[in-house]
Amino acid sequence: MKLYSTKNKSRYVSLKEAVMKGLPEDNGLYMPETIPQLPESFFTALRQMKLPDIGYEVSKALFQGEIPDSELRNIVTKALTFPAPLVKLNESTYILELFHGPSLAFKDFGARFMAQLMSYFNRNEDKELTILVATSGDTGGAVAAGFHNTPGINVVILYPSGKVSELQEKQLTTLGGNVKALEVLGTFDDCQALVKQAFLDKELNQNLRLSSANSINIARLIPQSFYYFEAWKQLPEGTRPVFVVPSGNFGNLTAGVLAKRMGLPVEHFVAATNVNDVVPEYVKTGKYTPRPSVQTISNAMDVGNPSNFERLQDIFSFTWNRFVDEISAYSLNDDETRAQMRECYESYNYILDPHGSVGYGAWKRYTRENGSSVGVILETAHPSKFIDEVESTLKTEVEIPDRLANLRERTKKAVQMTPTFKNLKDYLLGSH
Ligand SMILES: *Cc1c(COP(=O)(O)O)cnc(C)c1O
Repeated sequence: MKLYSTKNKSRYVSLKEAVMKGLPEDNGLYMPETIPQLPESFFTALRQMKLPDIGYEVSKALFQGEIPDSELRNIVTKALTFPAPLVKLNESTYILELFHGPSLAFKDFGARFMAQLMSYFNRNEDKELTILVATSGDTGGAVAAGFHNTPGINVVILYPSGKVSELQEKQLTTLGGNVKALEVLGTFDDCQALVKQAFLDKELNQNLRLSSANSINIARLIPQSFYYFEAWKQLPEGTRPVFVVPSGNFGNLTAGVLAKRMGLPVEHFVAATNVNDVVPEYVKTGKYTPRPSVQTISNAMDVGNPSNFERLQDIFSFTWNRFVDEISAYSLNDDETRAQMRECYESYNYILDPHGSVGYGAWKRYTRENGSSVGVILETAHPSKFIDEVESTLKTEVEIPDRLANLRERTKKAVQMTPTFKNLKDYLLGSH
């Protein structure tokens, strides 16, 4: 497989280099040189295929032999261990539940696949790989679970003390083994600055093999395309759905567009955002104006300059007409989000989390403007992840899945440190 940087289309790297580096030096994003069209036979067989089979066929077409078939089979089998069921609300509205993984959000798909790929590319190294991650909460949990027990790889997670929820903290600090948590007595920005400095430090890089689990790594994007096929196979035969995607950094939506390019029958995409609405604004006006993010109840989408916007631009040849041909966009404020959560619960007895509620509201606006189609709304997190907000909005109790409830009982293990680079460096050099 060959990939180019969105900032330089004349220099190609291998899948291995793109995955292990994460980001090209020119600050662009890696994109596949060719997006293969999947054969008719794949779509005929799709209904009989399980999610790991779909992941295998899709990534095999993309990777073009860079990973041997038996290894690839092993990677998808280990990464895709939970389902993505489609729930029908009515004849024209379906919910794709992407929260059945260990951290209860769709980021598990990306994190687990990336962990398996990195472990494969790392297999002949005699020195361990250390993944450094700064997290403000959610990403860290998915990455920690994704890399847990991966041979040859250590994960060091830096999080701001007192600034993540109790459950998020437990997700980071209770796995043990190859996952180590550093509780930084500072802010998320401190954590991020420390990680950045570590990658630039000569002595650290001479002693350790460092890598990142950055959210824009192509290894996190590719597996997110799998569940668009998985959703389609569960729909009535012959359906061309509209996919509605609650969006922040727009990785999920970009993966959907990739699936469509590979031949998946998709009528249209709807990007759903909260008041961080730079993309809906771009769709409306043709102008893209990044700005600082605003805090909302759908906080995983509080993004003022979506990192994958550049990838979407690249796919649509930086042409507004092409972009809006395939993507509509709507934004909801917090009150509208709560109202949609209530409406869905009252109409269908189905509990959405705040992110899914934004998607639900965007879908209703789209159908009002465009008439009837079949919509698949991606539900990106389990409602119990946002239990306080959901329970106070719906005045009902939300069930907590066992895998989350069990966390409460586990004991936190973290090393506390003040945010100085010397502390981080001593820790990293001392623990290896
Ligand atoms: C990360 C996240 C999103 C946003 O996904 P992007 O790929 O960044 O657009 C939406 N919902 C939840 C629950 C998330 O964790």
